[in-house]
Amino acid sequence: LQAGLERLRELPAQTLDGHRIQVQVNTGLLTDISRSLERGAEGVGLYRTEIPFMMRDRFPAEEEQRQIYREQLQAFAPHAVTMRTLDIGGDKGLPYFPIHEDNPFLGWRGIRVMLDHPELFMVQVRAMLKASQGLDNLRILLPMVTSVFEVEEAQYLIHRAWMELREEGFDVSLPAVGVMIEVPAAVYQAQALAQRVDFLSVGTNDLTQYLLAVDRNNQQVADLYDSFHPAVLQALMHVVEAAHEEGKPVSVCGEMAGEPASAVLLMAMGFEALSMNAANLLRVKAAIRQVALSSARQLLQEVLGMDSGEVIAAHVDLHLKRAG
Ligand code: PEP
Ligand code: MG
Repeated sequence: LQAGLERLRELPAQTLDGHRIQVQVNTGLLTDISRSLERGAEGVGLYRTEIPFMMRDRFPAEEEQRQIYREQLQAFAPHAVTMRTLDIGGDKGLPYFPIHEDNPFLGWRGIRVMLDHPELFMVQVRAMLKASQGLDNLRILLPMVTSVFEVEEAQYLIHRAWMELREEGFDVSLPAVGVMIEVPAAVYQAQALAQRVDFLSVGTNDLTQYLLAVDRNNQQVADLYDSFHPAVLQALMHVVEAAHEEGKPVSVCGEMAGEPASAVLLMAMGFEALSMNAANLLRVKAAIRQVALSSARQLLQEVLGMDSGEVIAAHVDLHLKRAG
């Protein structure tokens, strides 16, 4: 652990004027569990289930999946663990399920694949539900959602899996279900989506890529990939407003949540939780603890009037340096 930051482990992510947000972790590998607990994570905001799938040479069976998920849920209980249903396609491939496309980022990805393969989706959801028996800290998150009908279909399947298990004698509860906002269409549908689910979570990695039309993995255009771009900030503001209009909580689980400067802006926008790589958790907590919500809001107002991501980033950095 970074020297000087350990003392933050037990302290909340709370501003100088008493506003508290939740700091959660993104997980996938087994080793993420201990790293996260060591740093005092308040639950998992994004468990990338494709990671254990990538490390095998075939789809893990229901019982195998149940064991993998149980480990996550148990390690973080009573905190919530947000399990994302399989998000393959785009930049995430499975060797035993090859997808060949000219334009994978605009192709068969995430929820699209799962709704075309309900048998895979059902096995995964059944495994998650079984794993949560007696713990009740499972939340299910749907990736790459573009339209309301995808959520309705997924919810129908989740409900069916739950009914099946009840009939089979398992005492499982229906988990909270949320949608990832990572496609521009979902930004403009945020309120309609929020109406149908329990929470929203913004995936700023994909959202930035799709809003700016910049491949997140292409070095040639890496300079243009900018989460401080005014369009990204406006989109984020809109999502918070839409979620709160429906009385639903909203978090961020993209890399942006793990950078102190952007984390402070996200808090000022009204996000209730930030989920990040465990390595960034204490740095983000430290940044939150050294600002007041009122001054973070003032800072947000200032940057919303600026028209360059670069200038915005510099302005926020300067503010944080002064505060620290
Ligand atoms: C995102 O897109 O911001 C996200 C959190 O998901 P992933 O990085 O796994 O695509
Ligand atoms: Mg994504």
